[in-house]
Amino acid sequence: MGRVLIIGAGGVGTVVAHKVAQNKDVFNEIIIASRTKKKCDDIVAAIGDKSIRTAQVDADSVPELVKLFNEYKPDIVINVALPYQDLTIMDACLECGVNYLDTANYEPKDEAHFEYSWQWAYKDRFEKAGLTAILGCGFDPGVTGVFTAYAAKHYFDEIQYLDIVDCNAGNHHKAFATNFNPEINIREITQNGRYWENGKWVTTGPLEIHQDITYPNVGPRASYLLYHEELESLVKNYPTIKRARFWMTFGQEYLTHLRVIQNIGMASIEPINYNGMEIVPLQFLKAVLPNPQDLGENYEGETSIGCRIRGLKDGKEHTYYVYNNCSHQEAYKETGMQGVSYTTGVPAMIGAMLFLKCEWKRPGVHNVEEFNPDPFMEQLNKQGLPWHEVFDGDLEL
Ligand code: NDP
Repeated sequence: MGRVLIIGAGGVGTVVAHKVAQNKDVFNEIIIASRTKKKCDDIVAAIGDKSIRTAQVDADSVPELVKLFNEYKPDIVINVALPYQDLTIMDACLECGVNYLDTANYEPKDEAHFEYSWQWAYKDRFEKAGLTAILGCGFDPGVTGVFTAYAAKHYFDEIQYLDIVDCNAGNHHKAFATNFNPEINIREITQNGRYWENGKWVTTGPLEIHQDITYPNVGPRASYLLYHEELESLVKNYPTIKRARFWMTFGQEYLTHLRVIQNIGMASIEPINYNGMEIVPLQFLKAVLPNPQDLGENYEGETSIGCRIRGLKDGKEHTYYVYNNCSHQEAYKETGMQGVSYTTGVPAMIGAMLFLKCEWKRPGVHNVEEFNPDPFMEQLNKQGLPWHEVFDGDLEL
């Protein structure tokens, strides 16, 4: 049905590659490109499908991307490099007439700040070019937006309260490691918290608000209020929402390490001069931390991510909780990667699949909740991320 180009050969890129290769009826030509070509070749060797082509590209460079796109002529690009590359890849897509999908919104390298405005500004240009851009199609953002759209479509006239709850109850047996790119991860967690309430954003200190939340098959875990990018699009697309928050679990050991890293200046993104060489402390830290791609083998336990929603149906208040639990070991057995990469890569593949099947094809720049959630929910069950529902239970929040 279509030719797909995956950009990025990290943990998430590896899972996307495995999943597109499992769906050759839809993705009949596959190309993987990244900064380091060897990583792409290793992925192809692990999958064992010699028809998958690989290429080297610096995705910070529009001319390099344009050359790559003109050579391979993909129908859609799945961008699973880093958020810094979103705009250059979107520019190259416009220049070459290629559709676009990503899993994280744009973030400038020199400023730990992310928001959709930069990418939403491409809306008219994609629309005029007749091209589709699907933003934030991982798990969170991604499946959380689809869960919300599914709830709005089937169970509520008005969604009023939304809490996205993200628990990683896994154990990788390392003193400290992040589950995806450490630089992006630490930048996200050390920012101020932020949530939506009564028509405006409320800012908190980093990890200031926390409470125990009980996760299915896991039990109670300390959960911390963070700002997360899907809140921005969800409160815009569902204006009846009175309060929207995002919670993530962290263990004490993780938080102690994080505090030390910050206190000694290693989380800083300000370049420093070291022996005549300019280095960014957080980038140096990334180089010495465990590689998230190597965590899978000894990773036990599971993730549990979902949406807890309260709102009105036929004038009556109802609650709804929809979630997925994903086992790190099952993810590793299938793709060689742990559950966090898996829960991000599978939805990215599904979004691209629905685009190629013309179910999620709509010129412009769109967040996932703007599309029909039903075929996506169906594919989640088929592609390794089954979901469960609880109606009118206690949301705890
Ligand atoms: P990794 O750091 O493991 O992989 C990133 C890949 O991108 C690497 O292969 C890297 O190449 C490549 N890359 C980086 N810069 C460039 C460049 N300039 N040109 C070409 N390739 C480049 O990250 P992850 O796989 O963990 O994460 C990938 C994306 O997924 C990130 O944007 C992350 O924010 C997002 N994510 C989204 C989630 C969600 O639920 N929505 C959850 C988790 C992650 P090299 O190997 O040479 O460095």
